[in-house]
Amino acid sequence: MIEYLKDTWLGIYTVFVGMKVTLSHLFKQKVTIQYPDVKVELPERARNRLYVNMDDCIGCDQCARACPVNCIEIETVKSVPGEDLGVTSNGKKKALWVTKFDIDIAKCCYCSLCVWPCPTDCIFMTDVYEFSEYKRNDLVYNFVTLTPEDIEQKKLNYRRFEEEKAAKKAVAAAASNPPQTNTKPELNN
Ligand code: SF4
Ligand code: SF4
Repeated sequence: MIEYLKDTWLGIYTVFVGMKVTLSHLFKQKVTIQYPDVKVELPERARNRLYVNMDDCIGCDQCARACPVNCIEIETVKSVPGEDLGVTSNGKKKALWVTKFDIDIAKCCYCSLCVWPCPTDCIFMTDVYEFSEYKRNDLVYNFVTLTPEDIEQKKLNYRRFEEEKAAKKAVAAAASNPPQTNTKPELNN
């Protein structure tokens, strides 16, 4: 009987302790928000999803080389004489066609090491932090703006340019080193 009364008292006592905590918070300022309808403002240097402004990318590969987990893949093709790629917004001349620029954000550890070496400030952290996907492959972001046909054309242009250059070099080399004619006098018997 005494055990029963003790348990009952303990039950009532713990309810009062819980209610005391609840009541003490009733009149305090709320710290929770109605996420996702309401979102907290992110700190100025928060690291979230990366973005690349391809208009300013010169394909220098510095971001990829700085990445500690190799989640950036870049491929470029040299432009050929006569092609004008323009300049970046900070005045750097563009000379390479960027034919591949993929970031596997599933591997990214948000270290931001790719951001600092970029000479044109075109790779940066955004304030986007909700980008879950059902398929892992959908987390590979492709930033290239050229179409697959354009990419093939750029590769072809460069290949032809190289072939023509090699052919011209061969002609020039042949002209400067004419084949030796046999000038050895014939012996008269
Ligand atoms: S933030 Fe870090 S891990 Fe992510 S792509 Fe940049 S360098 Fe790589
Ligand atoms: S460092 Fe900047 S300019 Fe160079 S490849 Fe990366 S994003 Fe492009």
